[in-house]
Amino acid sequence: MSVVVYGSGQLAQMMYLAGAPLGIDVQAVDVNTDTVVHPVSKTPLDTSLSQALESADALTVEFEHVPERLLDEAAKTGKLMPDIASILVGADRVREKKLLQSMGVANCMHRIVTQLDDLDACITELGSRLILKASRDGYDGYGQWRLTDESELPSLKKSLASLNLEVVPLVVEKMVDFDRELSLIGVRNKQGEIRTYPLAENLHHQGQLHVSVAPATEVNEALQTQAHDIFVTLAEGMDYVGVLAVELFQCGDKLLVNELAPRVHNSGHWTQSGSVTSQFENHLRAVCGLPLGDTSAIGPSAMVNIIGCGSFSRELLSIDGSHLHWYGKSVREKRKMGHINVTAPSYNALGEKLTALSQFLPLEYFPKLTEEANRLK
Ligand code: ATP
Ligand code: MG
Ligand code: MG
Repeated sequence: MSVVVYGSGQLAQMMYLAGAPLGIDVQAVDVNTDTVVHPVSKTPLDTSLSQALESADALTVEFEHVPERLLDEAAKTGKLMPDIASILVGADRVREKKLLQSMGVANCMHRIVTQLDDLDACITELGSRLILKASRDGYDGYGQWRLTDESELPSLKKSLASLNLEVVPLVVEKMVDFDRELSLIGVRNKQGEIRTYPLAENLHHQGQLHVSVAPATEVNEALQTQAHDIFVTLAEGMDYVGVLAVELFQCGDKLLVNELAPRVHNSGHWTQSGSVTSQFENHLRAVCGLPLGDTSAIGPSAMVNIIGCGSFSRELLSIDGSHLHWYGKSVREKRKMGHINVTAPSYNALGEKLTALSQFLPLEYFPKLTEEANRLK
């Protein structure tokens, strides 16, 4: 079998690695050159895009910002999974909010803003602590602005003056005082079978994910069920096929959806070591119409992102239960270079292992690691 992935970054690479044992060949499309490349070496393959599309069993994406002309071409084959509407929901916060509202899924209070003067009404309706998000092309906290006090409004308006809000509106959200950030990774296959993973707890720094712990600590059955039910509502409502990530804010015993990612997700990388079946394998199974794999956790695990850091000692692999995933990219500030998965028999042992890990890493790049290690111990 073969699957073509739009995008040629680390997610396509990890799908390729997961597909190999199943005999599923994964090819990647470099969306800047419209060429088919090997997902690991990134070297061009001896096949044209149209040949690859024709021979593939399924077409999928590793990110939601694939140019629409490519998505249209892919959709025409009838093999694009998830479908184009689901991908565009992930690429456009206005569509995303409308979908959540139409399905009755709890999310952050918000307004869609197409002219700067509407911001005054936002303050009246939502209060003076706001987060403004460009409706398109934002990720890792880029394309966001914050208002913490009404007095900042004039200067905020000045910094937004060059944006064309008629074309790319802002989604203005009330700042939520959540207890913590969680995510649910789930998967639905072509036949409609659904499985969800245990909730993961995510620690961010400057808008970027740094550490995930899964299963999240202190999750009772009701909370996991609430997350599962949100997933089922969304996946069935969208007739979704593949892995879908749901970013959540926990406020007391209630979950609010922050955003959706119609693809395998960074906060699901722990599943490579911490679950019976990884999110990458399950995504391939889903789009190929195969039975889904067990999504149970095998024990507590953590995923530590390597961000903007190009060198550290590989001796960290001496920690039992640690695994390195290196993406092979050139180093750049704030760029995701790789990640480390760590599994342990208990949360306490996981905390000890994260402390051990911290001794091998330049900690200026890992601002959340020590704090999380201490919390778990
Ligand atoms: P990603 O890389 O996850 O796609 P993104 O740029 O799409 O990130 P969001 O997930 O919308 O951005 O926001 C980034 C982070 O900002 C969130 O993980 C959360 O920590 C914080 N945040 C976003 N919206 C709110 C809100 N309404 N209230 C409080 N904090 C928020
Ligand atoms: Mg996002
Ligand atoms: Mg996010």
